[in-house]
Amino acid sequence: MLPAGAETLADLAPGSATTTCGENAVRSIDSKPARAGRVSGGRALFRAVTAGLLLAASALGAPAQGLIRDAEVERTLDRIAEPVFQGGGVSPSSIKLYIIGDSSLNAFVAGGRNIFINTGMLMRLTRARQIQAVLAHELGHINGGHLARRGLDTEGATGAAAVGILLAIAAGIAGSPDAAGAIFTGSQSVLQRSFLQFSRGEEASADQAGLTYMERAGINPTGMREVLDILRGQEQMMGRNVDPYALTHPMSVDRMLLAERRIDSSPFRDKPDDPDLAYWVERMRAKLEGFTKRPETVLESLPNDDSEFTLVRRAVALHRLPDPKGAMQAMDRLLAKRPGDPFYLELKAQILLESGRVAESVPFYRRAAAAAPKEPLIAAELAHALIALDDGTGNSKGNAEALTILKKATRDDPANGIALRDLALAYARDGQEGLAALATAERYALRTDFADVIRHARHAVAVLPEGSPGWLRAQDLILVAERMEKKRQ
Ligand SMILES: [Zn+2]
Repeated sequence: MLPAGAETLADLAPGSATTTCGENAVRSIDSKPARAGRVSGGRALFRAVTAGLLLAASALGAPAQGLIRDAEVERTLDRIAEPVFQGGGVSPSSIKLYIIGDSSLNAFVAGGRNIFINTGMLMRLTRARQIQAVLAHELGHINGGHLARRGLDTEGATGAAAVGILLAIAAGIAGSPDAAGAIFTGSQSVLQRSFLQFSRGEEASADQAGLTYMERAGINPTGMREVLDILRGQEQMMGRNVDPYALTHPMSVDRMLLAERRIDSSPFRDKPDDPDLAYWVERMRAKLEGFTKRPETVLESLPNDDSEFTLVRRAVALHRLPDPKGAMQAMDRLLAKRPGDPFYLELKAQILLESGRVAESVPFYRRAAAAAPKEPLIAAELAHALIALDDGTGNSKGNAEALTILKKATRDDPANGIALRDLALAYARDGQEGLAALATAERYALRTDFADVIRHARHAVAVLPEGSPGWLRAQDLILVAERMEKKRQ
């Protein structure tokens, strides 16, 4: 489980519990770095990717943790989303899914073909069909063109900068200076003025489109009813503590009736859950709970058994307690059940690394990376461990291997702040100052710190050979960042 983001700001972030709505109170997202994290450069479990998100939120005492990056959770969501996107007539690779580390109930679209979903929403939904209903509804907004008159475009921005702009849009900081706070505090008046809110007509139309996609994919539409029921419960507590989803996707009696009529007539309304998807949803929930709830709360509520998902929760909660020995015991039992599982190998490596056993983590990261060769996140974690092992003299083998891995990993997946930071470090140790500055500029773009983007990109321009790919990229970053700075003012 990796945050995408910022190593210094994380230390400012309070481990916060939200009071967004009553039952959410226990869903704290703990941003406390694991013990070894600070030593190895501050790898907190969850960190904000954007300064804006974090500062707006911490000023208000509200939780906001930025983008959450986790290969296992992302692959699970891809599996869940695939039939929905196909049913909606879009190629699954054309829609990007982002997970926001925020315990409130929310999902939304921003910047064109991007769907954001909060960890709070993922933990509230217990079945694949419910998550599919949320995604189908959001795709309904995208296909319906409901975004056309809202938000900013990301034209001209690529890589980390494009993701950074999306996050700025998602937080509303680019559109309205007050909206970022509004999203997290549920201040309705500001949200009504911001671009994220849809009309009731658009809501009903997104439901209907979503139900069509679900039907084409043969998905039980009861998931939509279950989600709407949660929303209706939210609407009844309209006021200060309502979750953002209810504000950005307004409910109405008509909307409910329309959807129910469709659901009742669906040929798939009694279709049982797909056992494979159900397995991955349960596994995702176990991991998210382990990483986001208070570890003491997780441990207290665990049954006294060694079932797979109990072991996931126990391993992660004990790791965060921290009880490294207990965590490792649970982890080894888990791996005995599924020895070659790349994500369990990755989790074991993470626990070792964050417990200060860096050298021991490397072989497990290698096995995880070999078992999941198409996961740039896992490759980047291997590189992170190699860099932590490196003595920093600039000529060690670890740095050279890490640099090779990170160049590819950040190309395949630019929205990884830790990988960008490691890349900058590896370049610096290799004596490549200009490319180190460029990687740092990219990382600040991901965090939406556009003034710092300009500073580091100018440094890169000054050092790199004129007209080289890095020099050109730095020039692009300056243009994008200057435009964003202007929009913010
Ligand atoms: Zn909606």
